[in-house]
Amino acid sequence: MARSKNSASGNGIAPKQGSAANVRTHQAVPRATLIPGDGVGPEVTGAAVRVLEAAGVRVNWDIQEAGAAALKKLGTPIPDALVNSLRRTRVALKGPLETQVGQGYRSINVYLRKTFNLFANLRPTHSFEGVQAPFRNVDLVVVRENTEDLYAGIEHQVTPGVVESVKVITARASTRIARFAFEYARHNGRKSVTAIHKANIMKLSDGLFLKCARRVAMNYKDIKYDEQIVDAACMRLVTNPRAFDVLLLENLYGDIVSDLCAGLVGGLGMVPGANYGEKGAIFEAIHGTAPDIAGKDIANPVAAILSGAMLADYLGFKDAASRVRKAIGDILRAGHTLTPDLGGRATTTEMTEAILNAMTVVEARRTSRI
Ligand code: NAD
Repeated sequence: MARSKNSASGNGIAPKQGSAANVRTHQAVPRATLIPGDGVGPEVTGAAVRVLEAAGVRVNWDIQEAGAAALKKLGTPIPDALVNSLRRTRVALKGPLETQVGQGYRSINVYLRKTFNLFANLRPTHSFEGVQAPFRNVDLVVVRENTEDLYAGIEHQVTPGVVESVKVITARASTRIARFAFEYARHNGRKSVTAIHKANIMKLSDGLFLKCARRVAMNYKDIKYDEQIVDAACMRLVTNPRAFDVLLLENLYGDIVSDLCAGLVGGLGMVPGANYGEKGAIFEAIHGTAPDIAGKDIANPVAAILSGAMLADYLGFKDAASRVRKAIGDILRAGHTLTPDLGGRATTTEMTEAILNAMTVVEARRTSRI
């Protein structure tokens, strides 16, 4: 695995469950909600749960439907049982959920992030040895504000043929996400935070976001702070991504730029994510339901499994999370069992089993040394 900095997938500053050091020291089995999701969701979250269990992550999963699957079975995309489960467990591993384009119910993802105040979306993006990608040694982290911006969902028709969408940016949310980015940088051996914006055009909204970021940056003299306009930042990302470290973005730019970053390291199947709040977290790959490959057993399970490793960290299963990451690094480097998006011919199941085998080999080596 090409990593120069501390574990990008670790959650150095994210709100913690488990013991003070975020290492699980007692026997109580934590509860977590498992949302298999739509499209490839059940395939990749199923793979993640298998790998986590084999790594020794003991969790009582409360399985809940959401999205299109729930609408079909239960008549609503957000069943009360799901919301109640999340209120109880405060932590979830989630598959992607379908949201129709230009019609239909509003995004369940946005609803969950807002309802549970999961304000920080963290998307660690790095190269893996053995994965064909436009660049090597990319190692950056997208920190995306998760609760406002154009995702506030305030849209109306002024008159037929004219609609307005309102972009909401507040000092409170901008300051909170900037602090998260700097704290993350400080606790994870990161050197710089780049705020990405379009304040040359949206002088008030993006201007406020920048003002807040600058004010927060003053308290983190150990971390370099700079700013780039979003269009120029995209060009730099696709020409010299190694120039970036922690990227701080509003909600919409964060969503777009993180998919762009995934393209730098092998695609959407490679990048995990976490939505953190003060009192809970939902872990999910950045990719969507991938309807074109759903049900074919060929989705790349790595992003979902790495999201599971972030959940394991959060719950205090640090060693297990490391074992999972090591096994993924090993099978990608070996390059024999890769799904089609990575240029291979393996199925999701075969790749998952290769990861399970790699963990068994590492464990056998470790115990033979004891
Ligand atoms: P997508 O991420 O589902 O797919 C884009 C492309 O990437 C497709 O070609 C797909 O096959 C490929 N891809 C995605 N994940 C992959 C994986 N694990 N392995 C191999 N290939 C993979 O994006 P989309 O097509 O724009 O969206 C489809 C649906 O997903 C929409 O309803 C959208 O709203 C939803 N979505 C949900 C989430 C979420 O729940 N967090 C995120 C993004 C999109």
